[in-house]
Amino acid sequence: MKCYLDYNASAPLSLEVKKYIIDVLDEVGNPSSIHTSGRKAKDIIEKARTEVANLIGVNEKNIIFTSGATEANNLALNGFKDIISSRLEHESIRNHKNIKLVKIDKNGCINIEDLEKKIKALKSKFSIISVMLANNETGIIQPFEKISMLAKKYNIFFHTDAVQAVGRIPVDIINIGCDMLTMSSHKLGGPKGAGALVVNNKRIKLKSMLIGGAQENHFRAGTEALYSIAGFGKAANLVDLKKMTYVLKIRQAFEYYLQEANIGVKIIGKHSNRLPNTLMMSLPGIKAEDLLIALDLEGYEVSTGSACSSGQVEPSITLQSMGLEEKVISSAIRISLGIHNKIDDAKKFTRALTIIKERYDFKK
Ligand code: PMP
Repeated sequence: MKCYLDYNASAPLSLEVKKYIIDVLDEVGNPSSIHTSGRKAKDIIEKARTEVANLIGVNEKNIIFTSGATEANNLALNGFKDIISSRLEHESIRNHKNIKLVKIDKNGCINIEDLEKKIKALKSKFSIISVMLANNETGIIQPFEKISMLAKKYNIFFHTDAVQAVGRIPVDIINIGCDMLTMSSHKLGGPKGAGALVVNNKRIKLKSMLIGGAQENHFRAGTEALYSIAGFGKAANLVDLKKMTYVLKIRQAFEYYLQEANIGVKIIGKHSNRLPNTLMMSLPGIKAEDLLIALDLEGYEVSTGSACSSGQVEPSITLQSMGLEEKVISSAIRISLGIHNKIDDAKKFTRALTIIKERYDFKK
């Protein structure tokens, strides 16, 4: 038995997307070629562009396809002198030069007063705030209305990495009030290797990172990844937020059984506004890596900290910035759910975790 609980790392490719990609694999054309095969490939790209645009309520002209969210985040910030962001962000944002980090509150959200202070201290007018919509580890949703208000008040740009939010909560670019938004295909049931940067403000002068052809309106040189982009479009088209009501019920069942088991589980960000599918929990006393391996042996696939930086066993920066105790951080694992999970998984998982804990306590 295998129970996949790591949708925030990558969601399984949906069957319909897989079938569609298999059809598209027969297309030989380069989307830049003028002949019939080339035009057919181009049509596939443009169909995907419309599907992705429709998902977030934007004009398809505003979509720039990239190889994924890492590239989209890099492109968004490329050329900006001053960037205001936080330690909650993915490395593709956090590791930029000239970045000013806003304080994080205990509830896992950025501190709005500190954000305003950092904006006021800016020297360059060509600056940008980059704050993710929802955190990949805790699922905590950031106060985007307040961030957008401040960005408008001080006339600076606002970019949001919406990778984990798209397909899980309503994401409408007008509602969010951002100027740029990042998406990734493989988090919403599409293939790996495609993503998008959405640019919704004509005043933004993007700086392309690649020297080459005129693809993607001169912003992303190189032959388009036809199959991945096609699958991305299909996955965007298949998003059905109604299914998230059920996913939320599964998450709530996990929380219920885990607390009821009375083995010392702590739910991180329990009282914060979170994604319906994400649950970060800690079992102080057992190291997260040990928990992950023990759970894997029982068939449950979870992650510790951010999956993107896994392989390196380092304490989660997100949890550290929330001011959590070291013993909570070092034993934190993430359960991220999706449409293939069942309510019953919660009960079985809790049973497995209880046995692991008993074994661990016995050995001590
Ligand atoms: N941003 C966030 C919030 C993520 O969770 C990830 C991937 N884990 C990325 C960006 C990078 O996405 P990609 O794999 O498409 O490069």
